[in-house]
Amino acid sequence: MLTIGVDIGGTKVAAGVVDDKGVIVEHTLRPTAADRPDVVAETVADVVRELSAGRQIEAVGVGAAGFVDETRSMVRFAPNLAWREEPLQKKISGLVGLPVVVENDANAMAWGESRFGAGRGQSFVVCITLGTGIGGGLVVDGSLYRGRWGMGAEFGHMQVLPGGRQCGCGNIGCWEQYASGQALVKDAREIAEAHPEQAKILLGLAGGKIEGEEITDAARQGDQASLAAFASLADWLGQGMADLASVLDPGCFIVGGGVSRAADLFIDRARQVFAEKLTGRGHRPLAEIRLAELGASAGVVGAADLARLR
Ligand SMILES: [Zn+2]
Repeated sequence: MLTIGVDIGGTKVAAGVVDDKGVIVEHTLRPTAADRPDVVAETVADVVRELSAGRQIEAVGVGAAGFVDETRSMVRFAPNLAWREEPLQKKISGLVGLPVVVENDANAMAWGESRFGAGRGQSFVVCITLGTGIGGGLVVDGSLYRGRWGMGAEFGHMQVLPGGRQCGCGNIGCWEQYASGQALVKDAREIAEAHPEQAKILLGLAGGKIEGEEITDAARQGDQASLAAFASLADWLGQGMADLASVLDPGCFIVGGGVSRAADLFIDRARQVFAEKLTGRGHRPLAEIRLAELGASAGVVGAADLARLR
């Protein structure tokens, strides 16, 4: 039985036909007009029509970067897309004539990784997606946890530093301001400005505009400022996972997202900090900290599977 998974991001729509083993049979990618909700729905309908041509499709799962309600039909609010109380499920379903399930994109990724990726065989999984911000997903006793109103597992918006950095959500000092892609860039820029002598390689590579890629390259070449930025990310990540473990006691963490492509620069230190900060350490098993396996397709695979299980 085939379903279609769609992953709507800030700049593109990725979609695929997925079988019940989590294998993508066919895949497609389109740019998104993130500021125009109707165009996004039309784009999704277009890719669904394209992918379903000549196939029997059972349902469509859509992962969207926003707060999705508990009926999995309405996007209440999306920080990076123009959705406010957007009836996405109804719109897409009306356009394609198939059952549609809408899910938060980080939840869809967490489900994909848990079922078919790094979390295979695990029933209690905390998934942390390190992108521009931090996406969270939680699998409890084999089921995706959504919370009462569908908005659970937004780990990135726990306040970790009172009086800290301004977050895009409107609050201050959120975890994603210290352990995400944008945090890495902020840290590196701050260090490079305060101590340019420690950032010679980085400044040479970046030529004034410091972004994640240059920080990664510079860190691999031994740039002190870039290594310090990664160390800071590792410390905040390890501490955050220790805090999450004290509440949720998962069997494993899965760390994914774009930043995890540079995991060799921070994951060992994050594991070490996690082990040092975990409450009750020495008297409880240590949850494994694994890297995501499905890469950018986790959201498509997860959304498609959630549509199958609807
Ligand atoms: Zn926040």
